[in-house]
This record gives sequence, C-alpha cells and structure tokens, in this order.
Amino acid sequence: MSADVNVVIVGGGLAGVACAKRLAGKPGMRVELIDRAGFQQFQPLLYQVATAELTSKDVRFDLDRLFRHHPSVNVRKDDVTAIDPGAMTVTLASGDTLTADHLVLAAGAQPNFFETPAPASTRSRCTASRTRCGSAAGCSPCFRTSPRTRRWSTRVR
Ligand SMILES: Cc1cc2nc3c(=O)[nH]c(=O)nc-3n(C[C@H](O)[C@H](O)[C@H](O)COP(=O)(O)OP(=O)(O)OC[C@H]3O[C@@H](n4cnc5c(N)ncnc54)[C@H](O)[C@@H]3O)c2cc1C
Repeated sequence: MSADVNVVIVGGGLAGVACAKRLAGKPGMRVELIDRAGFQQFQPLLYQVATAELTSKDVRFDLDRLFRHHPSVNVRKDDVTAIDPGAMTVTLASGDTLTADHLVLAAGAQPNFFETPAPASTRSRCTASRTRCGSAAGCSPCFRTSPRTRRWSTRVR
C-alpha cells in the first residue's frame, strides 16, 4: 500500500498499541508496528496470573488479531536490533531495515525491584509463583493431611 507518511512504532505494549490504534485508518498514513513477542502483555494483570485467578493466555493479546481490521497497520514480529535516529531507520534481527518519516519508540522499560524478589514481574515468574503457592496450599502430599490447610487450598485453582 503506498502512503505519504510512514510511521514505524517499536514495541507493541500499552503505548505502542495505543499509538497504532490512534493512527489506524488515517488517510495517507502507513504504520509498521514491530514487536519481538508478537503480542501485547497486559502487565497490570500479572498479579492475577501469579495468584492463579487468570492464566497467562488471558493477559496476552495477539497483535495481528488486534489490527486485523486495519489494513494500514502492518504488524511485524521481529526484534529491533538498531535504530539510527539521524537516518530515521530501524534495523531488524531478520535483516530488514525500515525507513520512517516518524519513529515512535515504545519498547518499555527495565523494571528495578532493588534486589528484592519480584514474583509478578514477568510471566514466567508468575507461573513459577503460582506453582509454588499451589503446591504449598494443597497439592503437596505433606499438606494434604492437614484439614486446616485443605480449607485454605479451596481458593487456589
Ligand atoms: C506486575 C505489574 C503490574 C503493573 N500494574 C500497573 C497498574 O496497576 N497501573 C499502571 O498504570 N501500570 C502498571 N504497571 C506498569 C505498566 O504495565 C507499564 O507502565 C506499561 O506496560 C508500560 O507500557 P509500555 O508500552 O511503555 O511498555 P510495555 O508494555 O512493556 O511494552 C513494551 C513492548 O516492547 C517490546 N519490545 C521491547 N524491546 C523490543 C525490541 N528490541 N524489539 C521489538 N520489540 C521490543 C516488548 O516485547 C513489549 O511488548 C504494572 C507493571 C507490572 C510489571
């Protein structure tokens, strides 16, 4: 599709998706949305994944699916390895280089938990916490003998 303005968005998280949604369908505008995961992870719900109220699939939103009705937004699952703000180019792990009229950097941030264990900071940590809690609350054989602990375990799916 030819376009007067090419916008390249790096990162399909909360910010990147909000930006792409705003620009979708604007006349003469083409959007390339690049994300290494290919899905948006709704981080505020990671606590619910850690406590087994939701599964990790419940907090992931496939980017292709989100923009399937917006032909002016092209979703690419790829890793951005370099950015040249002077030349307005983005280099991808696949080897492609994209040129942008406008470059949006929405690649998120690196959390800092000041060396304290942070069980809900990533999806894999959430899953590990959930497994630990599940076994402590009833799945482990040594807890099964305690009626008091079995009562608590009814909260854990
Ligand atoms: C457990 C937890 C709970 C939270 N609760 C709240 C809350 O209640 N309220 C609130 O306001 N905020 C909350 N936050 C913070 C909120 O989730 C973040 O501020 C928000 O997700 C930031 O959005 P973002 O788009 O900047 O980055 P992200 O959502 O992190 O998205 C960045 C995207 O960029 C992609 N990416 C990164 N590097 C590259 C690369 N090189 N190439 C390609 N793609 C790349 C990633 O795959 C990711 O999809 C919480 C965060 C956590 C971890």
